[in-house]
Parts: sequence; structure tokens; C-alpha cells
Amino acid sequence: MTSKGFTTKIVHSDRLLNIEYGALHAPIHNAVAYGFNEVQGLIDVFQGAAGHAYARQSTPTIDALQQKIKTIDNGIASIVFASGMAAVVTTFLALLKSGDHLICSRFLFGSTNSVMNTLQNYGVEVTLVDATNIAEVEEAKQSNTRMVFVETIANPVTQIAALQEIGELCARQKLVYVIDNTVASSYLFDASTVGASLIVTSLSKYVAGHGNALGGAITDTGIFDWQNYPNIFEAYQKGDAKMWGIKQLLKKGLRDMGGCLSSQMAHLISIGCETMALRMDRQCDNAMSLAVFLDAHPKVAKVYYPGLKSHPQHEMAKKLFKKFGAILSFDLNESEDCGALLNKLKIVILATHLGDNRTLALPVAATIFAEGGLDMRLKMGISETMVRCSMGIENTIDLINDFKQALD
Ligand SMILES: *Cc1c(COP(=O)(O)O)cnc(C)c1O
Repeated sequence: MTSKGFTTKIVHSDRLLNIEYGALHAPIHNAVAYGFNEVQGLIDVFQGAAGHAYARQSTPTIDALQQKIKTIDNGIASIVFASGMAAVVTTFLALLKSGDHLICSRFLFGSTNSVMNTLQNYGVEVTLVDATNIAEVEEAKQSNTRMVFVETIANPVTQIAALQEIGELCARQKLVYVIDNTVASSYLFDASTVGASLIVTSLSKYVAGHGNALGGAITDTGIFDWQNYPNIFEAYQKGDAKMWGIKQLLKKGLRDMGGCLSSQMAHLISIGCETMALRMDRQCDNAMSLAVFLDAHPKVAKVYYPGLKSHPQHEMAKKLFKKFGAILSFDLNESEDCGALLNKLKIVILATHLGDNRTLALPVAATIFAEGGLDMRLKMGISETMVRCSMGIENTIDLINDFKQALD
């Protein structure tokens, strides 16, 4: 199947699992436990054979979604979680230990940023760096560094990490390279091309797309050699070394920490992900058109969108990504009130979240960056008039007209 296109592979993946009665969609298996006719069957599943015993680790519906995510991410194995944050935090807790050092982008999703001081409380050293600057990342390396964590397109300012150079650094220094690919998504950007070891994604956003299910995923790209990693427990240093990392994430992470996705939600995400490429093409095109419109508007001081030539990482984005993503932010002129503008929007919905079919907008300083205060906002380059938009699939002209009437 590898030679087929992105969407072809996803929409035909359920059928390849030999679903009963030839159903085109894998059914929802809500059962928590699975029974066996012979005791050996139960023993085999407990000892690693394919099959299901208890829904905290797997169900046939979860398997079907994991198969799709593995295809989307072009990886060797994927596991799914109850939310993006469950996947993010499991990556750290299952693979790092006290005394380890983590290098992490300081342009981070708010909750991931908040996880960093939790990790420090557990004895993990954390250095936050400007991940767009490879020199700063290299300088942060210590003898106990185990992992580098970055996001592809940071939210809301849309900084893009030095993805390729960090990949080369991680390969040279044998560091686990974790990319949170939620905002670019594996449709726009195949993180294995820059050497990512693990791809972490919030399925709640572009993968599901409909905004009716939370979920998260970790995919192993097969690039990292886990034989070089000192934190793999002996129990998981068995069989194919390529699978040691994902096995530990499954057992120490998903099974023990319990952040498992329900089959109901897995099914909703499975349906959503089939239209991912169609939706994202439209969303990215809408973002590009709105960015150009806002950039030319006299009341707008600055637009942050990787598709604009003025964006500091525009050339890199052009080289690495299929399109420039579907979030954009903008600052109004200092004399303008972004709350007043937002209140005038008629189509665009005032809401947080990314990747919905509807266009959503919010005032950044007073919402997603309120907790850290003004100091934190200044450090992160967040102005008091910044608006973040998550583009939907509406007709472009309607969105532009909505912003036009609100601004004028
Ligand atoms: C939304 C988001 C998350 C968290 O995902 P949830 O599914 O909301 O828990 C993590 N990282 C990024 C970049 C996100 O945008």
C-alpha cells in the first residue's frame, strides 16, 4: 500500500483488517474484557501475542484507529491516548527519569509548558530554548541530556523550530527527538524526513477535525535506535529493538498511567481522519487568503503566518511543508481594541481549539496566555491586541467579508 496517496491509504485501511460481514467501517467494541476458549490464548496475549485482554491496553476499535494513525504518520507503530496531553505527558513520564535532562522549545502549547515545572519537581532537569535557533539548542546539550522536544508550528506566534538541524543534532548525539506535530499535522509535514524519533499529535484537532472527540497519539518513526537508550526497562529489551520504545510507552505509559482512549471516541476520530487532507487543503487556503487580506489592512499591525514572505521561517516552511498551516495570528494597531473587533464578527466563532470545520478566533492575551501574566507574554512575543484564528472550511470570501466588516 505504501505507493498509494495519503487519502487512499486512510479510507481503505479498515477493510484490510478483515472486518466481519465485509463492513466498510470497523465496528465499535465497547467490551472492557475479552474471553478465551483455551487458557493458552489468554496467556499468549498477556505475553505479547496479538489479541485483546483488557481495554486499558487495546480493543479492536483502538487497533483500527492506531492502524490509521500509523499510516498517516508514516511510522512503524502508533498508540493512542485519551487526549493530546495524555500522549505528551506519557512521552516524558515513560521515557525520562530523575537526573535526566530535557531540552524543550520555549514556544510551547500552554499545558505542555505547564508540564515542565511538574517534571522539574520529579527531578528531571529542563532547559527551555528558542528552538528556531540551532545554536541555542546545541548549547543547551549536557552529558545527561536524553531528549529534545519541539512543536512544528508554535501557537499562537507560528514560530517554526529548526526542524532539520535539530534532527541532525539528535542523530549525532543519540538523543530522542520528539516532535509535537499537532499544528502542522502529518498531512502537511512528514516528521520522519527530519529524523523525528517520536511524533506526538493531538487527534482532537486536525486529525478528527469535527471537534466531537478528544484524543492523542504517539508514533514511533523507526528511526531511533532504542539499544542506545539507557532508560528502557529490562522487561522491554526483548525482541526487535525497534519496538522497545513503543513497548515501554504502551506498558509504562498507557497501561500503567491509564490515559486510554475509549472505543467510542476512537471510532469518531477514525471517521474524521478520512477527510483530513480535504479539510486541511481548504483550511490552509483560507488561512493564506485571510493572511494576505489582513496584512494589507491599515488597522492590522502585524500578521503571523508562515505563508507570508515576511515570516522568519517562510523559506523553511516552503521547503518542508505541503502548505503553510491553518492557524494565523495578528496584532491590531495599539490603539485598537481586539475585544471590540471580535464582538463584531458574525461568522467566525469566539472559541478556543484548533482544526474545527468552523473558523474560531480568540483574544490571546486574555485567554490562552492569561495565566502567565504580562511578563510571560512579553517574553513569548504576545502583544495585548493579538488575535488567533483557527481556520475552518467555510467559503473564503465569507470569512474575508466577515473580518472586513468587523475591521471597518
Ligand atoms: C491541543 C494541543 C495539545 C493538547 O491536545 P488535547 O487533545 O487538547 O489534550 C498538545 N499540543 C498542541 C500543539 C496542541 O495544539
